[in-house]
Amino acid sequence: MFKCDMCGECCRNLDKSPIYDKLHNGDGICIYLNGNLCSIYNDRPLICRVEKAYDFFFKNDISYDEYLKLNYECCEILKKKE
Ligand code: SF4
Ligand code: SF4
Repeated sequence: MFKCDMCGECCRNLDKSPIYDKLHNGDGICIYLNGNLCSIYNDRPLICRVEKAYDFFFKNDISYDEYLKLNYECCEILKKKE
């Protein structure tokens, strides 16, 4: 299972990929971010769900371990960017 420390950095950097364009107003900060937390967490889109996104988009291409590793690497890059 993916371990998130709820730093909120991914939700403040949505301008790094066009797939998140509908979730921000050009500044990269999600319109649903409240502090560091998602205000629509239970209803957040598929592209915000690590496990479900793997099943839907990536499971035929990379292993789950490799996918998690890439996710953790992205988290670290975003945290160091501050
Ligand atoms: S950057 Fe990573 S650790 Fe921070 S909130 Fe996003 S998924 Fe969680
Ligand atoms: S919908 Fe929630 S989880 Fe997705 S980017 Fe916005 S605040 Fe983050």
